[in-house]
Amino acid sequence: MTFTTRFAPSPTGPLHLGHAYSALLAYDMAQAQNGTFLLRIEDIDQTRARDHWESQIYDDLAWLGVSWPEPVLRQSERMNFYAQAHDILWERGLMYVCDCTRRDIETALSAPQEGVPRHGPDGLIYPGTCRTRHPRTGPRPTDKPLRLDMAAALRHLTKPLSYKETGLNAGQITCGDLVTTVGDIVLARRDMGTSYHLSVVVDDAAQGITDVVRGADLAEATMIHVLLQKLLDAPTPAYHHHRLIRDEAGKRLAKRDDARAISKYRAEGTSPDDIRAMVDLRP
Ligand code: GLU
Repeated sequence: MTFTTRFAPSPTGPLHLGHAYSALLAYDMAQAQNGTFLLRIEDIDQTRARDHWESQIYDDLAWLGVSWPEPVLRQSERMNFYAQAHDILWERGLMYVCDCTRRDIETALSAPQEGVPRHGPDGLIYPGTCRTRHPRTGPRPTDKPLRLDMAAALRHLTKPLSYKETGLNAGQITCGDLVTTVGDIVLARRDMGTSYHLSVVVDDAAQGITDVVRGADLAEATMIHVLLQKLLDAPTPAYHHHRLIRDEAGKRLAKRDDARAISKYRAEGTSPDDIRAMVDLRP
């Protein structure tokens, strides 16, 4: 299988040094293996995605010396594929409607019998309030948030979940008990009809990704992706989680870190090789 990887930014702000590292590392790995580097625009959150950020992503990446085959896959154009995946999970009875607000969840979790609220890759672990509240029959509701029934989903598996990690903490990683570490996560958000987790899994499969290269901040979410791959009969790629680029204070860079925006370095006369040197990559 040809090594195929991707860089999948969301056009919700400028690319910064951390993105440059991620894109260049994935690109270099693909080059070294005579493989393919793809670009995917993760713009499902249309309330935050902006065309000018998307154009700037293309500009910045080209300036860095990265190239990719056209057409670029844009998630906002793929809602029907995400709907199909949701239909599969719904028809198997693995999702349910949830109308809890954040406040409802916090209140439920503050009940004494709940103990200390736990956090998973998606924030507070849902207490399950709506799990048996709404029928799971009939057509899939498309105007309400839908959660994955984690315990029911895990019952569909024949083997423990695991994946191959080739980056930090390399080795075969076993995913553990997702009921307690992840819980019933939202797979279809009210405002966008889908979610990061579901879309990324559908698209990695559609694009034939063999190796996902991305920041260590997403390592914890990988078990969710591996589970969804199993439920949707999609292959599990290898994952290469890389270190995060941090500022002088040791804080990881965020979209708001305009000071480290690639465009700012470009305007100051920094060269692409200087950027590579800053993130310890060979020119
Ligand atoms: N769109 C995600 C981000 O910008 C990356 C998703 C991924 O690499 O899986 O953080």
